[in-house]
Amino acid sequence: MTNNEIRVRIAPSPSGNLHVGTARTALFNYLFAKNKGGKFILRIEDTDLERSNEAYTQNIFDSLKAMGLQWDEGPDVGGAYGPYKQSERLDIYTKYAEKLLESGHAYYCWCSQEELEAEKALQLEEKKQIIYSKRCKNLSPEDIEQFKAEGRKPVIRFEIPSRQLKFKDLIKGDVEFDLNLLGDFVIMKSNGIPTYNFAVVADDIDMKMSHIIRGEDHISNTPRQILIYEALGAKIPEFAHVGMILAPDKTKLSKRHGATAVSEFIQQGYLPEAFVNFLALLGWSSPDGAEIMPLDEIIQKFSLDRIHISSAVFEFDKLNWMNGMYIRSMPVSELVERIKPYLQEFDLSIYTQEQLETIINAVKEPLVKLSEVTNAVSYFFGDSINIDNEIQETVLNTEESKKVLTEFLGFCEGIDYGDIEKIHDQLGEFRTMMKPLKPKQTMWAIRAALTGRTHGADMGVIVSLLAKNRVILRIKEAI
Ligand code: GLU
Repeated sequence: MTNNEIRVRIAPSPSGNLHVGTARTALFNYLFAKNKGGKFILRIEDTDLERSNEAYTQNIFDSLKAMGLQWDEGPDVGGAYGPYKQSERLDIYTKYAEKLLESGHAYYCWCSQEELEAEKALQLEEKKQIIYSKRCKNLSPEDIEQFKAEGRKPVIRFEIPSRQLKFKDLIKGDVEFDLNLLGDFVIMKSNGIPTYNFAVVADDIDMKMSHIIRGEDHISNTPRQILIYEALGAKIPEFAHVGMILAPDKTKLSKRHGATAVSEFIQQGYLPEAFVNFLALLGWSSPDGAEIMPLDEIIQKFSLDRIHISSAVFEFDKLNWMNGMYIRSMPVSELVERIKPYLQEFDLSIYTQEQLETIINAVKEPLVKLSEVTNAVSYFFGDSINIDNEIQETVLNTEESKKVLTEFLGFCEGIDYGDIEKIHDQLGEFRTMMKPLKPKQTMWAIRAALTGRTHGADMGVIVSLLAKNRVILRIKEAI
């Protein structure tokens, strides 16, 4: 690795399925790395053993892969700076903690939970700042012996110096913190597990991260992390904190607004490439104002200085619009493959691949999500169809419709089912035959009888694919 190689990471905790917020952070890191010819690394932050779950790790892998964000180093693919799972790095944190103890930047704290709470209560009562009192900072050897004898297990705290800390955030600009407001914080719990702020720095040092691009909810952690870099004499990476993603009602995006996991969106029938395009525009915009862009194009155009300083709003309508655009512009052979998982309830073997493509082409126009295709194509399958009462009453039960269908039954015999263009002509002839009935009325009756609906795919496609036997059967049933 050269000294100025770009190395960035996404470091999700496997305590849930990959959230859209984390996915967007991953995407920005990926775009930045690929634009600069750098490396994108996946690290799994699973030190919270109780909340971490292998199924969530798998979901994170699968979701990132579906989005096309392949990592260069990670738990499954390895790399020069592994292991890439925090639970496999515990001895590394211990070594770093020992270093900080030796250099006097950290100290053991033996306080019990009750003692800490009592201290807090007192500070509250005396209207003082709530902050750890450092009472374990200068213990005598006798005190320590006493605590050990009581069976206490210490944590390790990092000592916060009393000064101001400034750093330049690549998105937020100059950020300043008064360190006097921060208490000495725990870096190692009594069970030997590191806390987030400590493990993240140890890993980012070892994995040689050049930039830390993450959500702005972590900006308040940054001073603590910078202090650890300083104490360890390590190079401090550049920081870039991205604004949050809000729901359309401007509150934090959460389950009550709908799906929040990438896998849920994909399951609902959002195309991963449309979803990625949409996510890229959540807080970033292209220099030329383009909206629909494949990942490769976004990589070319991406830069951190076009990330907006404020929060982004997750507009479901825009996602729907974008998904529809991607569905309509996808080559139909590929679209059929993507759609197949939503057609499992149908016997697809009754059609050739070419016929399936004809069907999908005929129904794709109004689709917003792939899952809607199940309903859109249902009348192409099975012999009979269910006709609901409303269509029956308002369309099929009229005298005019009965006349149309009775006439059409005879006309069906002569239709050239193999040729959609010809069917259009023949339907035209039939409409003329039915005058003075309005053409629309004629077609409505036929459509309702064949599909149970008043609108849908092109009638030529429907008649051709249902073919003679099913057309006659459905017309007879409707009559
Ligand atoms: N595990 C942390 C999270 O998912 C990582 C934060 C960071 O990037 O430092 O929020």
